[in-house]
Amino acid sequence: MAAYEYETHDYDVVVVGAGGAGLRATLGMAEQGLRTACVTKVFPTRSHTVAAQGGIAASLSNMGPDHWQWHMYDTVKGSDWLGDTDAMEYLAREAPKAVYELEHYGVPFSRTEEGKIYQRPFGGHTTEFGEGPPVQRTCAAADRTGHAILHTLYGQSLKQKAEFYIEYFAIDLIMSDDGACTGVVCWKLDDGTIHVFNAKMVVLATGGYGRAYFSATSAHTCTGDGGGMVARAGLPLQDMEFVQFHPTGIYGSGCLITEGARGEGGYLTNSEGERFMERYAPNYKDLAPRDYVSRSMTMEIREGRGVGTHGDHIHLNLSHLPKEALQLRLPGISESARIFAGVDVTKEPIPVLPTVHYNMGGIPTNYWGEVLNPTAKDPNNIVPGLMAVGEAGCASVHGANRLGSNSLIDLVVFGRAAAIRAGKVVDAESAVPETNTGQVDKALDRFDGLRHADGAVATADLRLEMQKTMQEDAAVFRTSKTLAEGVKKMGEIAGKLDDLKVTDRSLVWNSDLMETLELTNLMPNALATITGAEARQESRGAHAHEDFPERDDKAWRVHTIARVEGNKTSLEYRPVIEAPLSTEKEGGISLKKIAPKERTF
Ligand SMILES: Cc1cc2nc3c(=O)[nH]c(=O)nc-3n(C[C@H](O)[C@H](O)[C@H](O)COP(=O)(O)OP(=O)(O)OC[C@H]3O[C@@H](n4cnc5c(N)ncnc54)[C@H](O)[C@@H]3O)c2cc1C
Repeated sequence: MAAYEYETHDYDVVVVGAGGAGLRATLGMAEQGLRTACVTKVFPTRSHTVAAQGGIAASLSNMGPDHWQWHMYDTVKGSDWLGDTDAMEYLAREAPKAVYELEHYGVPFSRTEEGKIYQRPFGGHTTEFGEGPPVQRTCAAADRTGHAILHTLYGQSLKQKAEFYIEYFAIDLIMSDDGACTGVVCWKLDDGTIHVFNAKMVVLATGGYGRAYFSATSAHTCTGDGGGMVARAGLPLQDMEFVQFHPTGIYGSGCLITEGARGEGGYLTNSEGERFMERYAPNYKDLAPRDYVSRSMTMEIREGRGVGTHGDHIHLNLSHLPKEALQLRLPGISESARIFAGVDVTKEPIPVLPTVHYNMGGIPTNYWGEVLNPTAKDPNNIVPGLMAVGEAGCASVHGANRLGSNSLIDLVVFGRAAAIRAGKVVDAESAVPETNTGQVDKALDRFDGLRHADGAVATADLRLEMQKTMQEDAAVFRTSKTLAEGVKKMGEIAGKLDDLKVTDRSLVWNSDLMETLELTNLMPNALATITGAEARQESRGAHAHEDFPERDDKAWRVHTIARVEGNKTSLEYRPVIEAPLSTEKEGGISLKKIAPKERTF
């Protein structure tokens, strides 16, 4: 057995992750007087949320008429009827409150002439239950909204005396013998010490796993660590086959150009200079949802109308927009286009390509953020002591496809909901659970095994193999053949985790070991994604299956529940929650309004 000494810390709540979701949860917990620690592998304001450009959706009606019911309808339709309706109602109803809270905390939103929060149009956000014109619902701080939110929430959390453990890497969860979560084992990156956090509630806010793919808009730190820890604890992942490709990653680098660019009037063209989205989505054109636009772009390229020497990408045009608008509303992307594509947006189009951007799937939760471990008897069975929020979680509000600007609002609404719930279920007076030392030893054995791994395959090589396979076999369009091949290949690739080679054996700033731990987390996420995709014989949202082009609500309006052990993935299904929180009489939305129908734009 590995001999590592460790320091223990006792808290009411430990939040793992300091992105928008983790910080909003941390702040809410600390505000209620719960002793709260926030553990994060990067400095809080370097979390991927800092890169969010476009904005945060809430029906404030600052620019014209809007209602939370319209926002809810758009979210239901955007999810292609795979989201849980109670959670989607909660999101749309609570969104305005959560945004005003951000405003009062100090987020420097862009303003209208009258001094109200500025809102821009975003894909899939409409009026009159999808019958009216697009709505301006996305609140923005220029094109640096995530940056503004993250800095504000970090400052506020410090003010509330939340304690931060920065550059601590969470290795594994500590589970009690009766299946509750009681803490987390961490490695302090800058001095190599090991730390055990005991807590009454652990909140996973570790973000997405975009880096399972070769080309992604997400940070290199988005490695699905929460999903990996959960899988190793024998808990499931949900709806992992739904991976969002953002239509406008810069060709080559994958760096994101926000949908806000199209919201402000930008449009896509093919090699014939045609605004082809008018053909695919006559009503909403370039502002159709992302899955729709990404597929349309891929079709244009496949049919020989791509741009560039190899005809393998598309143009995004902004040069017709007034210079002042670009400067005021889109300063960041003008700069990105210059640096990453060598393009002056006031003169030339930006070369773009659909790029992996967001994971709709994640750790299953209810709308309070409580983690679920569905059983045959109870599909909504709760795991005591464990919550998940943000992109790591799956509440599920995005179902098969997320609408732009619905993630930032998801972070703050559900970060806040988790804090409200913890305020009820965590007893500040009770004793902190004792360390389950057997579990700590198990986690440290795994850590030590990887630290001394002396096999034949370098971490970076195996990671690349995984990324290329996912990019090729679980892409925008999928077929039975590519998916079956992908499942087989990914099984073999995951098998090679036993033959890894780590060259640096030290404990201080050992990035080789950290990336190896991250690879062991990416792998179960990738396996669940491709296995779930192969099994789902329909097309829905981001899952476009060429051999099963229709959505099949009879057989497939269910959540995929994937359990990954080693390189084996087993699948079960959980019913979608169809009932909203409130009835029409109570001011809610009628079931008829949100009944599944064909999804056109
Ligand atoms: C370029 C880009 C632009 C986007 N723009 C928008 C937008 O305009 N509007 C919108 O709604 N959405 C947008 N999104 C999506 C949205 O920003 C993300 O889904 C969201 O920020 C994720 O937030 P999070 O809090 O869940 O995780 P993150 O912000 O990714 O933070 C994860 C946190 O977990 C910590 N962590 C992870 N693993 C460990 C570990 N093992 N140990 C310790 N700590 C760990 C990290 O240190 C970090 O603090 C964008 C995404 C990208 C990539």
